[in-house]
Amino acid sequence: METSYLDRLRKEEVIAYFSMEIALISEIPTYSGGLGVLAGDTVKTAADLNIPFIAITQLSRKGYFKQEINSKGEQIEHPVLWEPEKILSPLPFKTQVEIEGRKVYIQPWIYYWTSLHGHTVPVIFLDTNLPENCEEDRDITDVLYGGDLAHRLKQEIVLGIGGAKVLKELNLKIRKYHLNEGHSSLLTLELLKDQLNNGKNLEEVVESIREKCIFTTHTPVEAGHDKFPYDLVSKILGNYVPIELIKKFAGENILNMTLLALNLSGYVNGVAKRHQEVSLQMFPGHKIHAITNGVHSFTWTSPAFRKLYDKYIPGWATEPELLSRAQFIPSEEIWEAHMEAKSDLIKYIYEQTGVQFDKDILTIGFARRATAYKRPHLLFSDLNRLKKVKRKGPIQIVYAGKAHPKDLEGKRLIKEIFEYITALKNDIKIVYLQDYNLNMAKKIIAGVDVWLNTPQRPLEASGTSGMKAAHNGVINFSILDGWWIEGHVEGYTGWSIGPSPFEEKSIENHIQEEIDDLYNKLEYIILPTYYHHRDEWIQIMKNSISNLASYFNTHRMMKRYITEAYFKRG
Ligand SMILES: *Cc1c(COP(=O)(O)O)cnc(C)c1O
Repeated sequence: METSYLDRLRKEEVIAYFSMEIALISEIPTYSGGLGVLAGDTVKTAADLNIPFIAITQLSRKGYFKQEINSKGEQIEHPVLWEPEKILSPLPFKTQVEIEGRKVYIQPWIYYWTSLHGHTVPVIFLDTNLPENCEEDRDITDVLYGGDLAHRLKQEIVLGIGGAKVLKELNLKIRKYHLNEGHSSLLTLELLKDQLNNGKNLEEVVESIREKCIFTTHTPVEAGHDKFPYDLVSKILGNYVPIELIKKFAGENILNMTLLALNLSGYVNGVAKRHQEVSLQMFPGHKIHAITNGVHSFTWTSPAFRKLYDKYIPGWATEPELLSRAQFIPSEEIWEAHMEAKSDLIKYIYEQTGVQFDKDILTIGFARRATAYKRPHLLFSDLNRLKKVKRKGPIQIVYAGKAHPKDLEGKRLIKEIFEYITALKNDIKIVYLQDYNLNMAKKIIAGVDVWLNTPQRPLEASGTSGMKAAHNGVINFSILDGWWIEGHVEGYTGWSIGPSPFEEKSIENHIQEEIDDLYNKLEYIILPTYYHHRDEWIQIMKNSISNLASYFNTHRMMKRYITEAYFKRG
């Protein structure tokens, strides 16, 4: 089936989707967080919709990392040991790129994702661990987001330039190149070089590259935009394309991967409406659209809710718009499905930590990359206040999340949470689960009662874990940032924390308002509703499914990419 599938793809015009990380299954641990999960959900949806699509990513042989946390709350990183040979198949050719004047060979591996209805999307993983390469070059693709700046640039050469060359070798007709974040921006240089070699003038070439490229930017956080000094670029890339030419598109003083993609893509988008506005402020003069993220509904719905939706909303998994009918599912059955997911989580927490949670206690969940702007510690801003809140009814809390090995502040935050766990041990049961991954995310997000999200705005470009929560009737309690600005209806689809996103306030006032709101809503609305107005609670669960899950899914998102970016005429 393998070659015949690619043969079929050769007859069509294909969307080539480039992403440094893609999270398809826990067994392929080549992702770090939301960006990878979005890429994985995108691939799955392209298969559901049966569109001609191929994805290109890095084969990170040591994964991102396996997280251990010791009793002091210190994160210890281990390489992930996985065997790509057992899951992926090598393509029968190698390609090469030039790095520091050396030829670096790249082996493409292929994985076929097949949808519920049997449609397939191939995912290509690029690997430099080959005997032809010198020791140093074998390690280029070892670790996702690993190494120093030079290492990162090499990885991005492999992804962008190497990836474009693999597609050429495969002899595919590419309709559009979709750059999922700026890590793959160098692919525009490969297209540029190719066409200049064909003797066209620069203006024509730029026009035709812009016609082919789509760029999705994913974060307003500065560190998320790769920048490489030009002396490093010339050392590593040599005369691949004249530096003077690169400067025209990627910035005079430093190679800014975001700028390169912005200048050479004919369609650019942010991942939520608010993120579009923030991106326009960051990159004035560019045209930036908004396509709000989604999640792959089937993947992110727990077994208990899948069963329930199958019973009342047949066809929901490939047409998640139908989830708008969830209002008519009997309340008792919604609650039963939720209790099944909650019991699964409680069992899992016990297995992982030996801590026994109680299924009748309001459970709050917080799990995502541990990094400063996500503020996992906001809930603990005032421990006495939190203890007072808790007199309205017991609370238990589950945390998880990895900090990037070089993100010292992220690591410090994990340690800080461990200190709160100890400080509150007589009042609130709190666990921090180790090694957050796809499978754990499914369990935690589906099994808690409230999904807490406290980012520093406007830095959460979209956020997707709250959309996963909504698919399982788990209620969002979140700062108004990213997707939640579009999904939130106070007291109906969940609850907000802090002021409206458009109010101008000094930072201090604003944080105090967020903290007050967080505690006040927990004490006066969330706990009383949960413990004394269960019918109202279940109504909000239903509203979340019917209003949020039916819209914030990747089926809606992909249909917008298809009509607004992939197939729209210039
Ligand atoms: C969904 C998901 C994320 C993204 O979570 P956000 O709260 O949107 O940042 C990160 N990691 C994993 C494993 C996920 O499943």
